[in-house]
Amino acid sequence: MSCLFCDIATKKIPAKVVREDEYTIAFHDINPAAPTHVLVIPKKHLTSISDATEADAALLGHLMLAAKTVAQELGVQDGGYRIVLNTGTNGGQSVLHLHAHVLGGRALAWPPG
Ligand code: AMP
Ligand code: ZN
Repeated sequence: MSCLFCDIATKKIPAKVVREDEYTIAFHDINPAAPTHVLVIPKKHLTSISDATEADAALLGHLMLAAKTVAQELGVQDGGYRIVLNTGTNGGQSVLHLHAHVLGGRALAWPPG
């Protein structure tokens, strides 16, 4: 089955890539919800965090550290930022490949809608 974010990870579909390493790729969200809005994804296809197992523990740790590095490199660390995993229908997930949103550059409301 085709997957948009797998196609971005393999460069079949272009994206504005921020950083990439062996396990993850980070790119600007096409419809930014904040001045800084980057998606960090594992290159391995996982549908969502619900799809992850103990075998993915190191990968998920790596994903979180990659998200933190994106925030540092894009200059939002000092002001503060949010890392979000929308999961499933009620979580508002629209792309079924696990992705961490990194949002920053403005004060973010809580709770989310
Ligand atoms: P979610 O709603 O949590 O599944 O988030 C999916 C995100 O992917 C949304 O914020 C979209 O704006 C973003 N998105 C969809 N297609 C693309 C694309 N081709 N390149 C970059 N971001 C995308
Ligand atoms: Zn995928």
